[in-house]
Amino acid sequence: MVELEHARNILSELGLNTASELLDAKLEDSLHKEATYLTFLNELLETEIQEKRRRSEETRLKLSRLPHRKTLEEFEFSFQPSIDTKQIKELSTLAFVARAENVIFLGPPGVGKTHLAVGLAMQALRSGMTVYYADLAHLIADLKRAAEQDRLDRRWRVYTRPDILIIDEVGYMQLDRASAELLFRVICERYENGSIILTSNKSFGEWGELMSDTVIATAILDRLLHHAHIINIRGESYRLKNRLKSGVKIAPSAGIPV
Ligand code: ADP
Ligand code: MG
Repeated sequence: MVELEHARNILSELGLNTASELLDAKLEDSLHKEATYLTFLNELLETEIQEKRRRSEETRLKLSRLPHRKTLEEFEFSFQPSIDTKQIKELSTLAFVARAENVIFLGPPGVGKTHLAVGLAMQALRSGMTVYYADLAHLIADLKRAAEQDRLDRRWRVYTRPDILIIDEVGYMQLDRASAELLFRVICERYENGSIILTSNKSFGEWGELMSDTVIATAILDRLLHHAHIINIRGESYRLKNRLKSGVKIAPSAGIPV
């Protein structure tokens, strides 16, 4: 049909490729349902916008460099009773991002700090926000390399622009003075401009030693904690839970007491 072909071409020239591809099927469906013109038009445009949102989320997800795609729904809160579920629920509304507040997850390895940080990020990506993930070692190495190659200004934007910057694994790497200064600059740039979600296995009292400089550590904490939600997780490692579980299964036949 010439008219159908014409409509399809116009849709694709307008960049509405999904609508163009689905035009045939949607027309047939509308005829079948005896839908009104308006319902037909709404449904056709709805498919286009849904596909556009899906592609945008996928692109932002790739650019975020998240280590995995674990969601808050996949988190077993019953395993970690020290976490206030109401607080996590409140954070998942993302009001903290609009207010450029920070979220700090503290606790020993395996208690779910990264999972929760990623879970909040997934929620943010779903609602159209941008995220960038880096563990501290990567962030420092990346900025140092950029500085050496004289392209720090451009690289800087990667850490300042996103709605949320995740700085994971603070505490595993001892920072020298230059590295601590780079971290300080990142924190300053984002202060009251954009949210940071940070995870650490070290208490704030240990940061002076970690940064090889108590003055910088104090200045970093001063800005980081000014508007911050702190979630202190005191509990067992989830990785250990899984190991115990498999231990329980093997034990009876092997005759090993559990
Ligand atoms: P951390 O960053 O605190 O060291 P992770 O977030 O990396 O810990 O958690 C370790 C592993 O255990 C991950 O695979 C994570 O998805 C899983 N995990 C941790 N806590 C929970 C939980 N309460 N419910 C479900 N999975 C969890
Ligand atoms: Mg982690």
